[in-house]
Amino acid sequence: MIKQLVKNTLSFVAGTLGWSMVRRGNKKLIILMYHRVLPVNDPRYQREEPGMVVSDKTFAMHMQTLHDEKVPVMTVSDWLAQPESTRAALTVAITFDDGWLDNYEFAFPVLKQFGFRSTLYVVTDFLGKPAPFWPNKVLQLLLAEGAQPTDDWAPLLRLIDKRISLPLSRDEAAQVIDHLKSHSDHEIYQALAAIPAKQNNPVEMISTEQLVEAKDTMGVEIGSHTRRHYRLKEGLSEALLKEEIVDAKHILQEMTGAPVTTFCFPNGDFSAEAHKLVQSHYSAAVTTLRGINSAHNFDAHKLLRIGVHNDISDTPMKFKAKLSGWR
Ligand SMILES: [Zn+2]
Repeated sequence: MIKQLVKNTLSFVAGTLGWSMVRRGNKKLIILMYHRVLPVNDPRYQREEPGMVVSDKTFAMHMQTLHDEKVPVMTVSDWLAQPESTRAALTVAITFDDGWLDNYEFAFPVLKQFGFRSTLYVVTDFLGKPAPFWPNKVLQLLLAEGAQPTDDWAPLLRLIDKRISLPLSRDEAAQVIDHLKSHSDHEIYQALAAIPAKQNNPVEMISTEQLVEAKDTMGVEIGSHTRRHYRLKEGLSEALLKEEIVDAKHILQEMTGAPVTTFCFPNGDFSAEAHKLVQSHYSAAVTTLRGINSAHNFDAHKLLRIGVHNDISDTPMKFKAKLSGWR
């Protein structure tokens, strides 16, 4: 009770005082990181990890708040291209990771209404597919009503490495996902391949046509988020790094007929080799490192971002506290 009161008070201070401070002073770029945008009653919202989604209402409120506060919104590329003297004290960039269809359905129309540009980082092999990421496949298994592990689950359960009784709560499932991240993507996909997939899963990723439409008519810049969302950690072969970083760029340029100049590291991971390759093929790259970029001191290939999801940003005050760097 007291803890909650203290938390609310601190959040209020961050949302008022913190916000007024961040708006003034040295020139800064806040890059917001979104994943999914969905109505709360959409089954896709219910199936998703809480940290991955904001509701359509919360997203519209965020944009309304930026509009009301008269904060300039532009893409990272546009901000980088601006001469420093013309940069505002505070600029916000809006980024979406992965290329979810729901961004096209529920976020881009709102952005268009406000005249805000944004960047969508897509995984080229996943375009137009049902949810192809292993966390979604795992969640689907763990949260399904009446689900019972069969013998086919043995490889996956070995990786999960603890006793679970289904269905799990969303928070428990999120913990399992967190634990699974200690294994390689390849191992996890192999374990999942042993479990027969349900047929007719709906498409959850944006299609090539929608991507082009978003770029041409909704002010969306297309950025690269690799070919298969492999985490670019130590140990990935040179050939795989090239496919994920260089080939993805060429595929996207072919698809959109436009230069692709920005990159987003899957899960925020990068080895020294991966970083170097990105540096030589893109003019900027965003990470999941948390923070606000200062115009006087930033690395264009290691840009900091602030992740937003519904639970931590569902009032204008909480959103402004988040923008101020409040955890
Ligand atoms: Zn991603």
